[in-house]
Amino acid sequence: MPPPMSWRGLDTENRKQGRDPMTSIHISKMTGKLDGLRAISTNTVTNSFCQKMNASGDTICRQCYSHGMLKSYRKNMQPSLQRNSDLLSSRVLDQSELPTILDAFFRINAHGELINATHLENICRIAEHNPHCNVAVWTKRKDIVSRMFAKRAKPSNLILIWSNPKIDAVVYNPPKYFDRVFNNVSYEHKPGEQNCTGQKCRDCLLCYKLDTTKVIIEAIKLNGRTIKAS
Ligand code: SF4
Repeated sequence: MPPPMSWRGLDTENRKQGRDPMTSIHISKMTGKLDGLRAISTNTVTNSFCQKMNASGDTICRQCYSHGMLKSYRKNMQPSLQRNSDLLSSRVLDQSELPTILDAFFRINAHGELINATHLENICRIAEHNPHCNVAVWTKRKDIVSRMFAKRAKPSNLILIWSNPKIDAVVYNPPKYFDRVFNNVSYEHKPGEQNCTGQKCRDCLLCYKLDTTKVIIEAIKLNGRTIKAS
């Protein structure tokens, strides 16, 4: 998953739309690799799935950029992200509470992960409220996704990207209901197949369009830089 290099909140957007920023969904303007994109994220640090994955096992979550940022030099982002965590996971939002997004492409979970089914339902509602916009969601939570879409239609503009937690174990077929797989590999693993190689998302958009590829492969990054064998 591409790490956002930095972050600026856009609570002014809520104010423009006549909403109280303290009780509305917080939309963030991304910079660095995600420059030009906006996102709705949640708090990685308080997400029990993220805590468990970050603490154990041999997965990409052990090297989570978000955990590192939010616990240190981006600690000040946590209150806004926690507001989103609470708002999106506690109840199904009314139409009047859904943000109107004027962008063509939008990111969900630049930080954080699906918390529960209510969180995913609210993301679906945001996508349905903005049918002109491709809403791309990164998640490892196949369990929440499969339970949800066994019961409800997937919005046609919702792009689901399964974030494969295993390193150097490229998966080519997206799980049921997903549109593609995002794989992390070592720099030396399948170099000829790596297709997320440092370009900016706005110049690439492979992940943000429906009919591109089912497989994204990126070499692991640390603080935005690819880790090469010494
Ligand atoms: S493949 Fe393209 S759109 Fe996807 S994360 Fe990499 S740069 Fe961004």
